[in-house]
Amino acid sequence: MTADPVDKWGRIRSLISAVFPPTCVLCGAPGLTSGGGRDLCAGCAAELPRNRDSCAQCGMPFDSPVLVGARCPACQRRALPFDLSLAAFRYEAAVVALVTGAKFDGRLNLARLLGQCLADRVREMDPPRPDALVPVPLHAARLRTRGYNQALEIARVVGRELALPVDRSCCVRVLETPPQAGLDERARTRNVRGAFLAQGPLPWRHVAILDDVVTTGSTVAELSRVLRRAGAVRIQVWAVARTP
Ligand SMILES: [Zn+2]
Ligand SMILES: [Zn+2]
Repeated sequence: MTADPVDKWGRIRSLISAVFPPTCVLCGAPGLTSGGGRDLCAGCAAELPRNRDSCAQCGMPFDSPVLVGARCPACQRRALPFDLSLAAFRYEAAVVALVTGAKFDGRLNLARLLGQCLADRVREMDPPRPDALVPVPLHAARLRTRGYNQALEIARVVGRELALPVDRSCCVRVLETPPQAGLDERARTRNVRGAFLAQGPLPWRHVAILDDVVTTGSTVAELSRVLRRAGAVRIQVWAVARTP
C-alpha cells in the first residue's frame, strides 16, 4: 500500500489560510474560523441539506426522523457487501454546486471544505474507526484528463482530520466505465462489474471507502466485493453526499 505521509498541499494550504482568511465559497462572507478555518459561513452552513435521517446500511435519506441504526425496506431484504454508510449531505441544493466544482473545476478548496464537512459527520455518528480510508479509484485515462481524483483529495482531508491513513493504491480501476448518470440500478451494477482490481492482499481488515457522491451504491458495492476478496472483513462507505 502507499499511504500518504507527505501532505505537501496541507502545508501549503495552512500557509495560504494564514494570508487569506477563510471566506464562504457560497456567499463571500467571512468563513468559520473553528477547526483551522473553513470556507463556509455559519448562515450558509446551516442551510446545507444534511443527511441526518438515513438508512444505516445504504445511506438512503428518509423523509422523516428515524432511530439511529434504522434500515430502509430494501436493505431489510437484501445483503449488501458493505456494513454501514454515512453521508454528510443530501445531493441537492448548494451541495450539487460544491461537489461539481470539486469534481470538474479543479477547485481543491471545495474538496477541502467537503472533506471537513464529512469528517464532522463521522465525528457526529461516531462509527468504529476503520484501519484506513480507500478512495474510489479513478481510471488512469480519466485521471490524466481531469488531473486529480476528487475522492482522493477529499479522503486526504478526512484522513488528516481523523488521523487515519489513506490507501490510494490497494485497488485500481481497470475499466473506464461510461458515466453512471441516467442509468437505473441494474444497468449501473452491470456497468461497473469488473471495474476494480485489488493489487494484492489488503494490509487492512476494516476499511472505509470514500466517495464524493453515492447514488444507487453500485460503484461502492463493486469496490466492496473486490476489497472483501482481498481480505477486508468490515467495510464502511463514507460519502460527501447521497442522492435522495
Ligand atoms: Zn455564506
Ligand atoms: Zn438502505
